[in-house]
Amino acid sequence: MLAQSCPECGSPLMKVGDDIYCATCNRRVVYAKEGTASVAEDSTELAELRRTLTDKLRTVNSQLEQETDIEVLTKLTNLMVLLLRALRELSKI
Ligand SMILES: [Zn+2]
Repeated sequence: MLAQSCPECGSPLMKVGDDIYCATCNRRVVYAKEGTASVAEDSTELAELRRTLTDKLRTVNSQLEQETDIEVLTKLTNLMVLLLRALRELSKI
């Protein structure tokens, strides 16, 4: 158990590996740079977000294959980069 308490419910926090958990909320607690703690988003929500992003990437990919217009291709490629970036950021949470 740690000295810190959960920002949501005030229960003592537990350290599991590199992660800090609140057993009461059953959630991971993250610390922002300013030192303020916040409860991480529910992992199932994150998994769903990841699925959505992956689905969109698949859609963009199939559109890219058929597209010949340079302007549309540019837009699709930019979108793909954004989606990939979002996925990468997601994996850091
Ligand atoms: Zn809590």
